[in-house]
This record gives sequence, structure tokens and C-alpha cells, in this order.
Amino acid sequence: MGEKGKDHLSDACRKCGSFCCTYYALPIEIPETKEDYDDLRWFLMHEGNYICVEDGAWYLNIGAKCKNLLPEGKCAAYDKRPEICRKHGHKGEACEFFGEYEYEERFHAPEEIEWYAVREMGLKKEEVKGWYVHEDEEFWKMIAELSARGK
Ligand code: SF4
Repeated sequence: MGEKGKDHLSDACRKCGSFCCTYYALPIEIPETKEDYDDLRWFLMHEGNYICVEDGAWYLNIGAKCKNLLPEGKCAAYDKRPEICRKHGHKGEACEFFGEYEYEERFHAPEEIEWYAVREMGLKKEEVKGWYVHEDEEFWKMIAELSARGK
């Protein structure tokens, strides 16, 4: 969001497609119970959402395009844009285009968080009735193999 004025769009923003203006992220509690993970499944059933973990902190990324984003990737409120936009990807700050975001985990689909929950909490098949992985025989075979190997 560094240089997206009405008359100027930086090469980086042009190449990236102003991705940073198409979602926002909120910190969320670290899941501890099966119910917590079930709530995360719900978040991931919403279009455009994903969850990421960075430095141990969990975030819900909500896919919602900013109302000020113009079709060509510029900002219609450039002079009025919030501070968070001014700092993003500017003067050494990390951004989607320049990288430096290193996620430990990233979940896009409910199945992904289910797999993680089962592994993290040691959930059994009968405990996750109603989840996608409950029906996934290959998955349970893999879990059995891992547990036989003590992993
Ligand atoms: S206010 Fe402008 S720079 Fe900030 S997210 Fe919206 S379009 Fe992007």
C-alpha cells in the first residue's frame, strides 16, 4: 500500500495486484479444545478466509476487498488512507510482494484445520463425527501408521 495514489502505482503493487487491499487479518485465540477447532472450521467455510500462524500467534484473514480499491489497483482514498496502509510495504516493512512473511502454518480449507486438530489433540475417529476427515479412510490409516511409529 506504499504508492497507490490516483496518479501513481508502484511496480511492486502493480505486479502484486494490490493483494494487501483485498483482505484484513484479526488476531484470534490459540485453539485449545475440539470446540475451538470447530469454530475455526466454520471460519474456513466462508469464502476468501484463511488462517495463518506467525511467530506462534494465530490470525484469521478475512477475504474482503477494501471499498477504496479501484479496479486498476489504485486507492480512491489515497490522501485519507489509514496509518496501517501507509506503513504497509513501505520503508522496509514487510508486505505480500516483498515477502518476509514466514508462516508456520496456513489453513485454507476446513479439512486442513481438521487434520491439524486431530494430530495436535490426538483426537480419535469417533470424536470427530461430522467432520470431513471422519470419512477419510486414508487419513486414519496414515494416523495409525504414525502412531505405530511413535509419532
Ligand atoms: S484505504 Fe487504500 S491503501 Fe488502504 S486498504 Fe483501502 S485501497 Fe488499500
